[in-house]
Amino acid sequence: MPERILVCVAWPYANYLLHVGQAAGAYLPADIFARYHRLAGNDVLMVSGSDCHGTPITVSADNEGVSPRDIVDRYHPKIVETWERLGISFDLYTTTLTENHYATTQEVFLRLYEQGYLFEGTQDQLYDPEADRFLPDRYVEGTCPNCGFGEARGDQCDNCGKTLDAVELINPRSRLSGATPVLRESTHFLLKLSSFQEALRAWVGKQAHWRRNVANFTLGWLNEGLKDRAITRDIAWGVPVPIEGYESKRIYVWFDAVIGYLSATREWADRSGDPGAWKGWWEDPATRAYYFIGKDNIPFHTIIWPSMLLGYGGLNLPYDVPANQYVNFSAGQKQSKSKGTGTWVLELLDTYAADTVRFYLTSIMPETSDSEFREEELVRANNDVLIATWGNLANRVLAMIHRSFDGIVPATGTLAPESEAILAEASGAFERVGAEYAACHFRNALQESLRLAQAANRYLDERAPWKAVKIDREHAAQTLAIALDVVNALKTLLHPILPFSTAQLHAGLGLPGALDAAGWSFVRVPAGTRLDASRALYAKLELEAVAAS
Ligand SMILES: [Zn+2]
Repeated sequence: MPERILVCVAWPYANYLLHVGQAAGAYLPADIFARYHRLAGNDVLMVSGSDCHGTPITVSADNEGVSPRDIVDRYHPKIVETWERLGISFDLYTTTLTENHYATTQEVFLRLYEQGYLFEGTQDQLYDPEADRFLPDRYVEGTCPNCGFGEARGDQCDNCGKTLDAVELINPRSRLSGATPVLRESTHFLLKLSSFQEALRAWVGKQAHWRRNVANFTLGWLNEGLKDRAITRDIAWGVPVPIEGYESKRIYVWFDAVIGYLSATREWADRSGDPGAWKGWWEDPATRAYYFIGKDNIPFHTIIWPSMLLGYGGLNLPYDVPANQYVNFSAGQKQSKSKGTGTWVLELLDTYAADTVRFYLTSIMPETSDSEFREEELVRANNDVLIATWGNLANRVLAMIHRSFDGIVPATGTLAPESEAILAEASGAFERVGAEYAACHFRNALQESLRLAQAANRYLDERAPWKAVKIDREHAAQTLAIALDVVNALKTLLHPILPFSTAQLHAGLGLPGALDAAGWSFVRVPAGTRLDASRALYAKLELEAVAAS
C-alpha cells in the first residue's frame, strides 16, 4: 500500500542566487528524500516556490531603484535554473505572486478571523521621521537584546538566531535614512498564538521522531510562553488584507509564505486537471508532511504554521521538520557574489557535474551540527571517494564484460560462498539504506551505500577476474556477473543522491524501463542481457585547476 508523502521545502526569497549552504540545508535533502520515496513506490508531492514578498525584496528594489517585481523577474528564473541543473525534482515550483496564492492566503486569513484567532490591536511601530514612513522589520537594525550582537535585523538576530520584534532592538537605526526611529501607533491584526500554547505542547510532546535540536528549540519557545504576533504591516508590497479599512497595509510576509505550501498544492491540483486532488495531501490524516528547512526557520514551521493550521481546522500538521544546521565556509573563502569561490550553486555547476556537487554536499550535510564547505574537499571527495570507490567499480565491471564477454552478461554457474555473501549484502542493503533515507539520515544512507561498494571492490580484487579469465573463464564469468548485480543494486541505492549518473548507468545496463520505475528492491541482471557501450560515469578532477581558479 503506497504511502502519501508531502515534501514541503522552504521558500527562498527571490532576490538573490541560491547559496550552497541553502542547497545542502534544505533543497538537496528534500530532493533525496522525495526521490527515495518515489523509488520505494510511494506517492510523493514536492512543492515550493519563490517568496516574492517581504522586505528582503523591497530592500533590494529600493537599493537599485527598480520595482519589487523587477527583482522577482530577474531572480526567479535563476532559481528555477538552479533546480534544473542541480536536479531538484519539484512537482511544482511556483511563486507567491499567483492569484491562487493570494486567494488562498486571504481565505486562511478570513477563516482564522471568523474563528476568533485574529484580532485587531494597536501597536507601537518604528517610524522614520526623516523618510516619513513606517519601518518594516528589515528596515531597522540595532543591537540584539538577547546576545548583544550589534547588527541584528528587526525581524531576527543572525548571530543567536532569535526572532525579534523590531521595537525590542537596542539603539535602533533606520536603514533608509540612518535616523533613530520613533514610535508611532498603528492598527494591525494579530495572530492569537497564545491560545495554541497547550495544544502545541501536547502535539510536540508526541513527536518522538523529531530531531533533538528541533524539539528543544520548539519547547524553548513554548516554555517562554507564546506571544500574540502582528500579521499585517504598513507596507505597500504583499497580499492585501481582505478587510475594509486596511487598504494601505499588507499581510506580513511570513504569514503568506507558510500558506504557500497549501496554495502550491492547490495549484498543482489545478494544473493536474483535478482541482480537488489537493485534499488528500492535506486532509487525509494518513498523509505525512515533511518540511525541509534551515534551523533559522524552525519556529515558523513548528509553532506558527501549526498554530495557523490548528486555527483553520481539518488540515494536517507537520509530521516531521528535519531542520538542518548551517554550512560554514573555510577562512579565506569569502562568500562572494562576483568571485569564483564556489559558494553560489550556479557558479559551482559551471565548474562541476551536478552529481559531484550533490555527492559532496550530501557528505557534509549539516544534519546534527554545523559543517564546513571547502572546494578542495569537493575535489578530493570526487576523486578519492566518488570515483575511487564507486565510479571505478562500475566502470571496471562494465569494461571487463565488454572486453571478455562481448558485452553480454555471462551466466554465474554454481555460486561460491563469497559470491553468495556479497549478493546477500547487496540484497540486505536495501532495507538498511532505505531506513536511513526514510529517517532523513542522508549522510548515513550515503556511507552505508559506500560500504557495499567497498565490499564489492574487495570481492573483485580477491577473485581477480582480469587474471582468471585467461585460465578459468567460468570463474571470471561468475565474478563479473555477481559484481554487476552489486553495481546494479548500488545504482538504485545511490540514485536519490546521484540521479544523473545512475540514470546514465541504468541506460548502459540495457535493462527495460526507466530507473524510477524499477522500484526499491534488489534485482539481478539476467544472464544474456546485452550491455550498451560503456563510458566513464564520472570525470576525474584536477586539484591544481581548482587552486588556480
Ligand atoms: Zn542575538
